[in-house]
Amino acid sequence: MSVNFGQPIIYCPYCTSSLESRKISGRERPFCPECESAFFEDPKLAVAVVVEQQGKVALQRRTIDPGKGLWTFPSGYVDRGEPVEEAAVREAWEEVGLRVQLDRLLGLYSSPGETVALAVFVATPESGNLQSLDENDAVGFFGPDELPDLAFPNDHAIIDTWRSGENRTIETPDIDLS
Ligand SMILES: [Zn+2]
Repeated sequence: MSVNFGQPIIYCPYCTSSLESRKISGRERPFCPECESAFFEDPKLAVAVVVEQQGKVALQRRTIDPGKGLWTFPSGYVDRGEPVEEAAVREAWEEVGLRVQLDRLLGLYSSPGETVALAVFVATPESGNLQSLDENDAVGFFGPDELPDLAFPNDHAIIDTWRSGENRTIETPDIDLS
């Protein structure tokens, strides 16, 4: 299965009319001429969990795209109505079989044009056994100097920040507010 959350919506989900584009609240947005309503497309929120144990981090090898065959943290989408922390605990359990204790929020990762915002937690295993479960075919704890090929551009930045023992540095964006 392949789901592309970056695709624009084409038809009105309520009346199925073809959508137009209209500038509303400063941006071109999908607009239904029948319902006379605009659609404000939200970002998707995802969580990733850096599960650390004795200086190593739990990684899984993905069996699905994006990043099939490459390694990353337990991660996934937050369900609507689900507290973000619960999503982090759930993903670590579902994907690598570890019940984790969340220690800190490492940072939020997002960038212009990117449809997914990522909340990254640092956690430690509380119970369970590291095992290959959902969406992966191999798991392991890796030290920072023995990392396998990582799947996503943010992964290296996340590892570097985790190694530093600090949280992600926040920079105030220089945006045009006029
Ligand atoms: Zn409509």
